[in-house]
Amino acid sequence: SMSDSQTSGDALPDDATEIERLDKEYVFGTWSFQSEVSPTEITGGSGVRFSTADGEEYIDLSGQLMCSNLGHSADTVADAISEQAHEGAYFAPGFTTEPRARLGEKLAEVTPGNLSKTFFSTSGTEAVEAAIKIARMYTGKQKIISRYRSYHGATAGSISVTGDPRRLLAEPGVPGTIKAPDPYAYGSTLEPMESLEYIDEMLMLEGDTVAAVLVEPVVGSNGILVPPDEYLPRLKEIAHDHGALLICDEVMSGFGRTGEWFGSDVFDVTPDIMSMAKGLSGAYAPLGATIVTDEIADHFETEMFCHGHTYAGHPLACAAGLAAVTSYQDQELIPHARQVGSYLEKRLEELAEDHPSVGETRGVGLFRGIELTKDPDERVPFGHRSDKISMGSTVVDEVSAAAWDEGVYVGNMINTLIMAPPLPITEDDIDEAVAGLDVALEVSDAAMDG
Ligand code: PMP
Repeated sequence: SMSDSQTSGDALPDDATEIERLDKEYVFGTWSFQSEVSPTEITGGSGVRFSTADGEEYIDLSGQLMCSNLGHSADTVADAISEQAHEGAYFAPGFTTEPRARLGEKLAEVTPGNLSKTFFSTSGTEAVEAAIKIARMYTGKQKIISRYRSYHGATAGSISVTGDPRRLLAEPGVPGTIKAPDPYAYGSTLEPMESLEYIDEMLMLEGDTVAAVLVEPVVGSNGILVPPDEYLPRLKEIAHDHGALLICDEVMSGFGRTGEWFGSDVFDVTPDIMSMAKGLSGAYAPLGATIVTDEIADHFETEMFCHGHTYAGHPLACAAGLAAVTSYQDQELIPHARQVGSYLEKRLEELAEDHPSVGETRGVGLFRGIELTKDPDERVPFGHRSDKISMGSTVVDEVSAAAWDEGVYVGNMINTLIMAPPLPITEDDIDEAVAGLDVALEVSDAAMDG
């Protein structure tokens, strides 16, 4: 047992609960030095709020890992999972069940254009792995171009196409994964549309041996980067000119997050392949999905679809997905997200005026970021990007911690606070969250000349 070790328990507060102590001892914390892990016990959630074991309540401004799009403890989804569990929790993927077939139909309906046939898995990572594999099988080519400021998953293939520092410890990674520059107007030396023409050049120099260009239509964890309107349509054109597919990773940007069904809809683009997870089930069950166009689906009529998992199309997860997607429709949550998203935008602009350490606020719908700076004129970030490989403490972590003390849960990555609340959030909830951020941003203001 590790219970007598020097490090175990070091980061825990003296009043840690039994569950927090057990968890720390027996369960790995993700992406962390284990000595620094200090899990907080959550006892429950309802709507846009959740509670911790010490009796405090928090507003969930990040929707946990930008996935709780429906809010917590919705009866419709809980009941759908329970009913399916009573009828039969699991049958092999060679059989079908009502939730799986109906969710497949539903996804063909809500996704853009002729995206029509879905492979179901259990996470965003798997959804991306399937997208890569399908692109390779369909084109007969191997290489994938993705971008530096991206996250696509944690397994061998998906971490190899990930551009952010989390990839570094997994390098050299899978061969044939190539990184391109990003549409990041605030922080890159390249203009967004210049970065796009660079991708055209890369495809040419690769001699048209690229299976797909893989992008988040709106970049999520790497800073909420919204490209110019012309970017995504032109990227599709460029990819197709070189015989490559366009894969849109909608794991974070999908299911109402942007105020449209999908990030691709913001730009009126139908990708060839789309990966989804997170909001797909409203985070009520682990569910990933990879949907392809009619043309790609047809290809596998006579070529083998050589892919699968034991839990592909798990009935409980599909029941959750079907209930979640139906709820977005029935509760008209997508127009709601667009509307309250504009309100959030306005409130964040006010914060930017009051706090010199706010470099930029940006985003679309209920998908928004606050990038901090210690020098607004030169746009100097706090800390270094690479700090995040070790998850070392930075000013942005201190701002998140200060927001937590104000009753607001807001995650961050790479010097940016990331907001992706449950879609049912109201203007009053937003006011409450912004009041907490207003206090928390004093921490970064104070750190500017430090
Ligand atoms: N793609 C994107 C765009 C993501 O944001 C994430 C998760 N943050 C993933 C893929 C991986 O999803 P998961 O963590 O469910 O495996």
